Amino acid sequence: MYDAKSMKAEEFISHEEITDTLAWAEKEKDNLELIDQIIEKAKKRKGLTHREASLLLVCRDKDRLEEIYKLAEQIKKDFYGNRIVMFAPLYISNYCVNGCVYCPYHLKNKHIARKKLTQDEIRKEVIALQDMGHKRLAIETGEDPVNNPIEYILESIKTIYSIKHKNGAIRRVNVNIAATTVENYRKLKEAGIGTYILFQETYHKESYEKLHPTGPKHDYAYHTEAMDRAMEGGIDDVGLGVLFGLELYRYELCGLLMHAEHLEAVHGVGPHTISVPRVKHADDINPDEFDNGIDDETFLKIIAIIRIAVPYTGMIISTRENKNVRARALHLGISQISGGSRTSVGGYVEPEEEDENSAQFDVSDNRPLDEVVRWLMEMGYLPSFCTACYREGRTGDRFMSLCKAGQIQNCCHPNAIMTLKEYLTDYASEKTKEIGEKLIEKEIGNIPNPKVKEVCVDHLKKIEEGVRDFRF
Ligand code: SF4
Ligand code: SF4
Repeated sequence: MYDAKSMKAEEFISHEEITDTLAWAEKEKDNLELIDQIIEKAKKRKGLTHREASLLLVCRDKDRLEEIYKLAEQIKKDFYGNRIVMFAPLYISNYCVNGCVYCPYHLKNKHIARKKLTQDEIRKEVIALQDMGHKRLAIETGEDPVNNPIEYILESIKTIYSIKHKNGAIRRVNVNIAATTVENYRKLKEAGIGTYILFQETYHKESYEKLHPTGPKHDYAYHTEAMDRAMEGGIDDVGLGVLFGLELYRYELCGLLMHAEHLEAVHGVGPHTISVPRVKHADDINPDEFDNGIDDETFLKIIAIIRIAVPYTGMIISTRENKNVRARALHLGISQISGGSRTSVGGYVEPEEEDENSAQFDVSDNRPLDEVVRWLMEMGYLPSFCTACYREGRTGDRFMSLCKAGQIQNCCHPNAIMTLKEYLTDYASEKTKEIGEKLIEKEIGNIPNPKVKEVCVDHLKKIEEGVRDFRF
């Protein structure tokens, strides 16, 4: 029985509700009157239900699709302006006891190079990331209670926050580790993590069990209920995601939105972010072996529909996608991207040779961060290295209520300007700096509040004099 408020995975992600929804959407897919009503509702910027979004996903009418894309772009502009938040993944260990068939870190892969960074190696990786200009990391590990126990993760977080190299600092550490206990989530919260990210991979229970044949991750309910335990442990910013390509994308979108509805219904706050990875090539993994791969057009349609269905949720795209797809996805709703990423363990200090293979997936966008930042600015975006909210205690429902009241933008915009200024001053190439300084000048003119503008201009001057870390 479907119940968004239930704490049981099979009830808040009810298979029957998803199949009923998909059957209903299929039946109504040419009902233009109903589709128009849903688009009108989306224009109010209060989001859509999983049923409404599922119907838009099967809509074939060109004009309506065009309207959906335009609306997604407009909502993106209204909520996020032209800002794009930058981050980098940091792989600290690829030891894993699970058997996920789509990931090269699975236990049975005996020819992948297994690595686990020591604290000293983490320090070196973090210095390399700071020297690129990153301020926000997402740490990634496989699941292995012996090699990667929670104590190792906590120690690594402490190490990362402690490193202050030149003007660098990692100011927000997001964590992407396996589903764990309330007690461990509490420890992560105490360690000062930003968002806890856990991809569901697929919401289809039967497929989930086949794709995760062995290891603790096989337990669908334990994995699916992880965000509830994270919230119980005090982490109020959680990040969802499915791995598109494993199951039918219509099923996944419906499940993903039901998960968001569940978090909102039970905890009063929806997901902080949604990621949209697609299955990619890696050692031991051939994406063609998965039947449900989606083409770029479908992928972009999904992004646009998520954007209008959950307008307040940040959306993340990684370097799994190439430059062109990333450019289009940014228009349609993505608010956060990685840049200069290495997906191998220790890859920032020692990029892997061709014959090495400790990466989780092949990167499609190989450009250094400086180039990505310049590319964004050339397209009219404002790259942001802001991490202010979590450090100001603006998390969970506090963050969401500011978002919903339209207040958060008064912080995001000047913070983006100031953190970009730090980046330009400390790390950018001459060419990037030149474009960036012009952009900052223009963006200062776009700050509506005169007091905020004055403070921001003053901080920019102080950044030139060597002071760092201003925030609203
Ligand atoms: S997806 Fe995660 S849990 Fe599964 S094999 Fe890869 S690292 Fe391990
Ligand atoms: S002010 Fe908050 S929401 Fe805005 S960019 Fe910074 S951290 Fe993100």
